[in-house]
Amino acid sequence: MAKIAENITYCNFSSKSRKEDKAKKELSLDTLAQLGTKSRVGVMESSKEAPISLIPCTHESDKKTLRKRAKRKHLSTPLSLRLVDASKLNPDSVLKKSYFNTYHCCRTLAIREDGSVRGNYCKNRWCLVCNNIRIAQSINNYMPTVSQWNDKYFVTLTVPNCRGKKLEGTIKLMQGTFTKIHAKLKKQYQRNQRERVCGLRKIECTYNVVRNDYHPHFHLIIKGKKNAEDIKNEWLDRFPKASYKAQDVKTANNESTKELFKYFTKVVTTIKDKKGEVKDRIIYADAMDVIFNSMKNKRTFQNFGFKSNKVISDDLDTEMDIERIIEEVEWVQELGDWVRQDGELFSGHRPSPSMVELVTKKIVVRTSFHGGQLKIFDSISIK
Ligand SMILES: [Zn+2]
Repeated sequence: MAKIAENITYCNFSSKSRKEDKAKKELSLDTLAQLGTKSRVGVMESSKEAPISLIPCTHESDKKTLRKRAKRKHLSTPLSLRLVDASKLNPDSVLKKSYFNTYHCCRTLAIREDGSVRGNYCKNRWCLVCNNIRIAQSINNYMPTVSQWNDKYFVTLTVPNCRGKKLEGTIKLMQGTFTKIHAKLKKQYQRNQRERVCGLRKIECTYNVVRNDYHPHFHLIIKGKKNAEDIKNEWLDRFPKASYKAQDVKTANNESTKELFKYFTKVVTTIKDKKGEVKDRIIYADAMDVIFNSMKNKRTFQNFGFKSNKVISDDLDTEMDIERIIEEVEWVQELGDWVRQDGELFSGHRPSPSMVELVTKKIVVRTSFHGGQLKIFDSISIK
């Protein structure tokens, strides 16, 4: 099953370019309109996110939403299989079963008499289909309050990069440290020494293929400049080895706030040459497996100082459940779409040639990743 790539050599690696933006766009977010089908299968052992609960409103006539979902499923399916391969090679991985659940996520969609479309959702955080629904839900939950804050700041907190073996411990330390900082500032607020500390906290983790290490970091939206600056300074006091320049406080608007809700790890790594031209796009499933194991049972997202809108209850769906299924459509990976019983494509999604190449050839599992020595060139510049 595994695509094996050993001793891979690259010239340049950086995170920003037009081509990469285009690549990101290909995997870009759906709109809130995608809030749709109801989750039926709960597989939560691998994550500690708020449950997905949605109004069953995706209609079979809403081809735009279904095509976007098909695009994600088209990448998510082979990614889940490569993650299974990676977990077999990683003695510390406990997620093999959960990765299989993602393979089965929305493989069959049921169409009901009223035209509503349902699928079984895996709810895992690496599932591009489920994650996108969760993002839309988070935006619905938090944006009504956060968009009202006129003086909000985007804060980035980092620690030095670490090896895979140290990632889980590093993330725990970061989360514990942030809790202590928050508790200290909250006490000051209770003594009328500062404004209430209101904000959102999101942990993200990226993988650096050149150095073969990981970069866990926090992104925060904080209400009020003083609180934002004080959090940054408290962080630097506790992590003196963290780069002063990497800790950042800048004004946020509603658009940059929405960025916070996106995926917590960048799945696709862009490989560039010395001129900064994109040479390749690769997904390192083995490194992703390390990240997902390190994040197991940890919250990626947290709000503090304000309440979120109430999550829509699953109970809303009870009445819909008794309706008769009139047709089931099955996912066919090679076609990048679900197929109707009469052979017609359900969403009409047509994968682009670059996406076909990515999903068939560029999701790699390196057999030498755990234990073996990866060949990595240190002459590569990193932006
Ligand atoms: Zn899923």
